[in-house]
Amino acid sequence: MDTDDGKRGAGPLHVSICGVPLEVLFLGTGTSAGVPMIGCDCPVCRSDDPRDRRSRPSVLVRYPVSGGASGIVGEGNGRVHQWLIDAGPDLRTQMIEHRVSRLDGVLITHTHADHVFGLDDMRRFNAVMDAPIDLYAEQSAHERLRAMFAHIFDPGSNVNQSFVAKLIPNRVKAGDAIDLHGARWTPLRLLHGRLPILGFRVDYPGGELGADAASPGSFAYCTDVSGIPPETWPLLERLDVLVIDALRYKHHPTHMTVDQALEVIDRLQPGRAYLTHIAHDISHAELEPKLPENVSIGFDGLVVSCGAGQPR
Ligand SMILES: [Zn+2]
Ligand SMILES: [Zn+2]
Ligand SMILES: [Zn+2]
Repeated sequence: MDTDDGKRGAGPLHVSICGVPLEVLFLGTGTSAGVPMIGCDCPVCRSDDPRDRRSRPSVLVRYPVSGGASGIVGEGNGRVHQWLIDAGPDLRTQMIEHRVSRLDGVLITHTHADHVFGLDDMRRFNAVMDAPIDLYAEQSAHERLRAMFAHIFDPGSNVNQSFVAKLIPNRVKAGDAIDLHGARWTPLRLLHGRLPILGFRVDYPGGELGADAASPGSFAYCTDVSGIPPETWPLLERLDVLVIDALRYKHHPTHMTVDQALEVIDRLQPGRAYLTHIAHDISHAELEPKLPENVSIGFDGLVVSCGAGQPR
């Protein structure tokens, strides 16, 4: 395995928050089928580079509890807020791998299976925390989830009384920022082919609303995107860290290619950018050295600190 590309140190594996204002843990960085794929013998699916093992896409966003407010007691590292963006089919193993046992809530970009089929496992968080979990999504996504998970959202119609997740639906709208325990979360309109979906921008601490308000730590997560509508570009300015879809090299109708992602990064000039939702077409060791200096490939387990001295 080739590891000496000089950029391997983009982030350590398995590091927990400690005095960092805003931190992102990449739980999964793979495309919908994951990498390796079932029944594929290509070099990337057979690679022994752990960075080529990509579970379904999801990130955990962490920031400290401010002012002594109630929050999650972090896994031995003080009190933090922990928010999950998307809950894919690999959620259970991701949570066990990273010893995540408590969540403030879950935010959903869209309801494709690779982003929501882990919602069933929220019931373990309900049990550990003895509390329901807040679920944030657009109205259209809530409607889809209600149909996909009738046993969760309409438990009265279950034949037997069952151990199902308890989720509290919260509606968000593209462009309307919300405050979640001191961080400003801005839902971003993105296009996934013809499907309008959400990305999320997080500014910590939140401060006043608006694209011009500077914040010490800022991060945006734009997975499953093939187009950025005009109203979203200003909301992606002045980012410390941008995470963006880069499925493969070849054109795809609903995802960006590596080149398209690099064009977006070049236009926005975030402090750093990371590629995600990656298919088996991309070998980490082959592509990483060819990327611009401020761009890296995300990999499962990568932890990135946003802000606090990061270049802007
Ligand atoms: Zn996806
Ligand atoms: Zn393969
Ligand atoms: Zn999708």
